[in-house]
Amino acid sequence: DKITIAIDGYSSTGKSTIAKQIAKHLGYVYVDSGAMYRAVTYYAMTKGLIHESDFNAEALIYQLDIVHINFKFNSELGFAEVYLNNQNIEKAIRTLEVSSFVSKVAAVSEVRKKLVAIQQQIGKNKGVVMDGRDIGTVVFPDAELKIFMTASAETRAQRRYKELIERGDDVVYDSVLKNVQERDHLDSTRKDSPLVKADDAIEIDNSNLSLQEQFEKVLQLVSM
Ligand code: C5P
Repeated sequence: DKITIAIDGYSSTGKSTIAKQIAKHLGYVYVDSGAMYRAVTYYAMTKGLIHESDFNAEALIYQLDIVHINFKFNSELGFAEVYLNNQNIEKAIRTLEVSSFVSKVAAVSEVRKKLVAIQQQIGKNKGVVMDGRDIGTVVFPDAELKIFMTASAETRAQRRYKELIERGDDVVYDSVLKNVQERDHLDSTRKDSPLVKADDAIEIDNSNLSLQEQFEKVLQLVSM
């Protein structure tokens, strides 16, 4: 029988990479819940609701009903890309700029309520691998398998820095490290659904694990 797999953890722990591989292997649907928070953030940025440190949360809440987020499977890429009001924004949401605001947007209860409802709808038939921060605690508290990924902040910042450079973004390592640390802090101290390990989640520290080793470890847990 198909199960629900929840993969949570801090920023840039490589959750999505492993989640995609596992979903592909099992023939499950992969859902990147972070992409949804990034999509709402992208919306707020393009509508001028975020300037420097000033974020107009009330205006965003007021407009939430016209923020439509969905996923469409891209067979070439082998995973579903995120769309905002019918525009493919999969690439646009991966910038450091979006990363630097997303945790503030994700702290807004109304935003979480909306996105959690969509996530639960997508996952209602099981056969889903979803990664995020609150999947095992809030979205699918009954998930059959919960994984909590960790790695040192430096390891994570190095990985994220490499990714951004590879896609041609002009970033410095120190800003990436600072962003990872700030998001860790904001995500784990927000009032609504803070990032915490679910009691029944299995922690995997992947600082010194190759992708193949992580993949095998998770598969082994699936079959238990
Ligand atoms: O996973 P990713 O790094 O793309 O997530 C971006 C941000 O979205 C996180 O730093 C967090 O603030 C927010 N998020 C969340 N709950 C989730 C997934 C992401 O609050 N389930």
